[in-house]
Amino acid sequence: MIDLHNHSYYSDGVLSPSAVVRLAKESGCEVFALTDHDTTDGLAEAQQEADNQQIQLIHGVEVSAMWSNMTVHIVGLNIDKDNPTLQAGLKQHQDFRKLRAEKMARGLGGAGVIGALEKAKALAKTDMLTRTHFAQMLVQEGVCKDMKSVFRRFLTGKKPGGVGGKWAEFDEVIAWIKAAGGVAVLAHPLRYRMTNTKVQRMLSHLSNAGLDGVEVVTAHSTDEEITLMSKWADEVGLLHSCGSDYHGWHNQRVKIGALKDLPNADRVLWGEW
Ligand code: AMP
Ligand code: MN
Ligand code: MN
Ligand code: MN
Repeated sequence: MIDLHNHSYYSDGVLSPSAVVRLAKESGCEVFALTDHDTTDGLAEAQQEADNQQIQLIHGVEVSAMWSNMTVHIVGLNIDKDNPTLQAGLKQHQDFRKLRAEKMARGLGGAGVIGALEKAKALAKTDMLTRTHFAQMLVQEGVCKDMKSVFRRFLTGKKPGGVGGKWAEFDEVIAWIKAAGGVAVLAHPLRYRMTNTKVQRMLSHLSNAGLDGVEVVTAHSTDEEITLMSKWADEVGLLHSCGSDYHGWHNQRVKIGALKDLPNADRVLWGEW
């Protein structure tokens, strides 16, 4: 069992890196990647626990990126976490996140939510702030009843806490990952609000820009989606990856290491690992 997309509290997951690694081991995972948003800071702790638990840890990171003016997520796997080019890029995103959090808090303040920045920070274990922290805070404050409605009513587009994303362009992000010796994989390809034609165009474009693979299997993939994605991946020469995108939220019905099998063993990303 292989699971190549997971979060800890170094970004918007609930568990510590050690706890996520232990859970992966208990769930029967043999190869496991920690892929926090725009940071590799949880990897050192995860590696220690992976050594204790005798599980293969793949060093990863999920990097936000712009493609065609939209935010997409590119997972870097098997990276050298100490690579200066990668770290300089991630630092850029960490700085943008701080600025964005302040802007989000100002927007929410205008909508009557007092002290949004401090309250969101209080929910974070590190200084990495994601929209998930703001969402949790708005649910906790009773402003919204669940995460889904928070994102719809507050944290997107022209809504009070919506801030235009200016992450690095996809080709830059791919270059950071390559500089660190990693492989670049498009995360959850069917979760962007795009038509099928547009997703295919994106896959082709990213593949030409050096992307190595795409997540063919994610947590809730149906058999039809898996068949479709593996076909589209093959058409543009992308390898197949799989990951649950586990965050550990209580209401997220996602388990580590409980993914469906990839349909074609010859096309898996980890062939050489
Ligand atoms: P950020 O990278 O700070 O913009 O936060 C994005 C994160 O918010 C994603 O990785 C998801 O974990 C979470 N997220 C985005 N949209 C939703 C949604 N509609 N419902 C719940 N969580 C979401
Ligand atoms: Mn997330
Ligand atoms: Mn993502
Ligand atoms: Mn993720």
